Amino acid sequence: ARTLSTTSPRSQTHASLVEFGQRHVTKGIGRQVEAIIEKGEGSYLTLGDGRKMLDFTCGIAVTNLGHCHPKVSAAAAEQCMKLVHGQCSIGFHGPYLELIQRLLPMMPHPSLDSFYFWNSGSEAIEGAIKMARSVSGRQNIITLQGAYHGRTYGALALTKSKTVYAEGFHPLMPGVFTAPFPYWHHFSLPPTTPASELTSLCLNQLELLLQQQSAPKDTAAIILEPVIGEGGYVPAPPEYLKGLREICDREGILLIVDEVQSGFLRTGKNFAIEYSGVRPDIMTVAKGLANGFPLSGIITRREISDGLRPGSMGGTYAGNAVACAAAVATADAFKNENILENVNARSKELFGYLEPLRSNPAILDIRGLGLMVAVEFASPTRTSVHDPLRNPHAPAKLASRVAKRCQEKGMFLLTTSAYEVVRFMPALNVSKEDLKKGCDIFVEAVDEIV
Ligand code: PLP
Repeated sequence: ARTLSTTSPRSQTHASLVEFGQRHVTKGIGRQVEAIIEKGEGSYLTLGDGRKMLDFTCGIAVTNLGHCHPKVSAAAAEQCMKLVHGQCSIGFHGPYLELIQRLLPMMPHPSLDSFYFWNSGSEAIEGAIKMARSVSGRQNIITLQGAYHGRTYGALALTKSKTVYAEGFHPLMPGVFTAPFPYWHHFSLPPTTPASELTSLCLNQLELLLQQQSAPKDTAAIILEPVIGEGGYVPAPPEYLKGLREICDREGILLIVDEVQSGFLRTGKNFAIEYSGVRPDIMTVAKGLANGFPLSGIITRREISDGLRPGSMGGTYAGNAVACAAAVATADAFKNENILENVNARSKELFGYLEPLRSNPAILDIRGLGLMVAVEFASPTRTSVHDPLRNPHAPAKLASRVAKRCQEKGMFLLTTSAYEVVRFMPALNVSKEDLKKGCDIFVEAVDEIV
């Protein structure tokens, strides 16, 4: 099975390293990895066999400023020579506080002024759940169909994008209820269904859930991604988010907005929730925060965080000094390098390149915000034989086949874990030329496969 080309000594080394990795890295990672990544620069990754790949994955929306952004790497290197590990229960370190100073003006609402930094997105979700339960004194958490919040135990209980993630790991955290997300699939409706219809369907079902299963007096929080990520790259309609806010206000439920994937300019605003003007009670961030250094954050308002029992939040590596220094440089680059302007200009071009594909019957939908964009393919095996989107004549596994073909043509492109969706998440500072190059590769791959 391991038959990579062996035309040069370099590719022989590459092939044997791939084989070594396949043998010794846990099978739990799922994918059959066939590449050794040697270095990254901007929108490109260089592989061990010398191939230079255009990267439209950004390590799953992490390296938003491209790989090894010089100022971020320099800030991290400098911090390494000063202080690597502080521990904020012993003393705040400079980069921790500087980072809060940088983030305060970026917040989607001025009430979000209390920060706790952790390492990964899942840990931020765990912290948000603990915060919501302990401050409200209520137990239940409502998550949404299609949600992805991570793979640690609490986060996994809230993750609904693919049931297989939880298989074999039960019992999960109790007290979790699921409401629908306004994605046409969840109602077996066509992609052209108006957002207003999906919004009222979802809000009605949420009201029913609150009456019949998770009584408001027992419900601590509703958690959602403002653009569902792994579940198919679907932006939540602003009216739906406003409806959620109203229900939460009426019932004293906290609204947790998970911006782990959609945050930090990815969608053409600092945070995707800004499209609705809705105020989160708790917001989780990670990925783009430190451009590749492991760092996440739980952000809330003072009165919520003051309600926490002292010592109830903690972690040895939480808010690492090098990661915080990288995040400060990342925030500075967002501001000083016209990143938001680039996201919005490139986004228009991206939709322009993809638009002609709409006439292809194998393509069900093209959607997204900023540089968080999805193309959804038809599938022969939709949920049931009654599903109007089930197309027995559609070729199987189109998304992963197209992504694989793109890889053969020199570009990394990811699918989502649910449905037949490929997701575009190029670097936010991707050049006009590289964006066009990536779109040309994609269109060619679609032409060849579909
Ligand atoms: N929340 C969202 C929206 C995510 O997309 C992810 C990861 O993809 C997570 C949480 C979990 O983050 P991590 O993989 O860093 O634990």
